[in-house]
Amino acid sequence: MTLDTPILIGHGYDLHRFARGRKLILGGVEIPSEMGLLGHSDADCLIHALSDAILGALGLPDIGHYFPDSSPENKDLDSLIILKKAVTETGNQGFKLGNIDLTLVLEEPKIAPYSKQIKEKLSDCCGLEVERIGIKATTNEGLGAIGRKEGIAAFAVCTLIKD
Ligand code: MG
Repeated sequence: MTLDTPILIGHGYDLHRFARGRKLILGGVEIPSEMGLLGHSDADCLIHALSDAILGALGLPDIGHYFPDSSPENKDLDSLIILKKAVTETGNQGFKLGNIDLTLVLEEPKIAPYSKQIKEKLSDCCGLEVERIGIKATTNEGLGAIGRKEGIAAFAVCTLIKD
């Protein structure tokens, strides 16, 4: 494969555990919730999965390489900065985002009331029409750690197209 490949596909996954006294931020949007997600950054697992999908499509290392959780300067980092880095790398390789498809796995809270706001936030950050951004949420039917409401997982798929 060469960099002349017209379409690249990326996939990303992330999971963060719930913690009290933290804000819940998903897709750059603060969502009212009793519990937030634990992490060195703002723990936005949706953006982490998406950023890894983009970097993966480009054949680059994962977000931990660029924003190590051992670095004090990344403490409580706004994850939109991570996503912007991935979008910049996309442009550097002569590509742009084609579409994004995201899935959150969580028992609560309900995400649907915030999906429009999340899409608009991601659209701004990625320079991609909201019509090319999909956000879905599903429960784990009470099974496993997510079913026990111990955390939230996110899956992301994206395409990058030659610009
Ligand atoms: Mg993460």
